[in-house]
Amino acid sequence: MKNGITLLVADHGLGYFVVHDDDRYCFIPTDGDVPHLALAFGWSPCSRCPNTCRGATDGTRNCPHCTGNVHRQHAIDWLNAQDGDWIAAEPGYFAPVSPSLNHDMVRALYVLAASYYHGQWSRGYRLLCRVKRYADRHGINLSVKTRVSQQLLRRLVKRYAHQL
Ligand SMILES: [Zn+2]
Repeated sequence: MKNGITLLVADHGLGYFVVHDDDRYCFIPTDGDVPHLALAFGWSPCSRCPNTCRGATDGTRNCPHCTGNVHRQHAIDWLNAQDGDWIAAEPGYFAPVSPSLNHDMVRALYVLAASYYHGQWSRGYRLLCRVKRYADRHGINLSVKTRVSQQLLRRLVKRYAHQL
């Protein structure tokens, strides 16, 4: 059975869908473990540093030339340019991920986008369309609200509502 994953940029600033070849997927928010996601797709943390610091960090800690936060931002910039990339071996996103958490995240993203998008050309509207497609494809009922989806929504609104 194939065990590859595809990266989909949910929208710049929001996060990333990691989609397994077997159609499972998970959502990594921008404030989640983005450096390791980038590493999995082939990012190299010190690529903008002098040669001497190759291998000094995994992208989450300081190296001799950059802080961990700068590496993190580089990882985000890099991932945003890799929309649609596929790698052959998924590095462990799927064993620990609970499908119900993913459903709740998709519900929360949908309500976020539906409530805060500004017009048909906005990033919020693109997110809305993308999340709707996901929900349709995976049989997720978007009209269901759960305690977890409401919690996720409150976090997302605080962080992202003004960017949509
Ligand atoms: Zn470095």
